[in-house]
Amino acid sequence: MSDAEHPAPDPQTATVPGRRCANCQHFSLSPVQVCPECLGSELHADGVPGDGVVYSRTVVRAGPRDRDLPYGLAYVDLRVGVRVLANFPVGDPVLPGDAVTVHTVGRTDDGLPLLALGHGTASAT
Ligand SMILES: [Zn+2]
Repeated sequence: MSDAEHPAPDPQTATVPGRRCANCQHFSLSPVQVCPECLGSELHADGVPGDGVVYSRTVVRAGPRDRDLPYGLAYVDLRVGVRVLANFPVGDPVLPGDAVTVHTVGRTDDGLPLLALGHGTASAT
């Protein structure tokens, strides 16, 4: 997957890149070729805002030697209705229910976005 197929979204309006179905507007993070909602095949690179709420979180203390340990992982329910997995520094006191912002920090070898929690997280009430 090349960057030409998944251009970086405008950071002012979208921080999580993916694909949107031209038929039903369903947004997918995965580089799908067919819409999982309507089976439409006209999909376009798009992005969504990264604001959401932490669903769950954990700290990873064991893993590959090339990875700095420990690090945090959190599932975040984005406001647009997509649940994503994002990294966070262990010192960040993020908890389920916290309002956070997710942004793209890179890409995996498969072209999927690597996401991280933005700074300035605040607790939701
Ligand atoms: Zn669709």
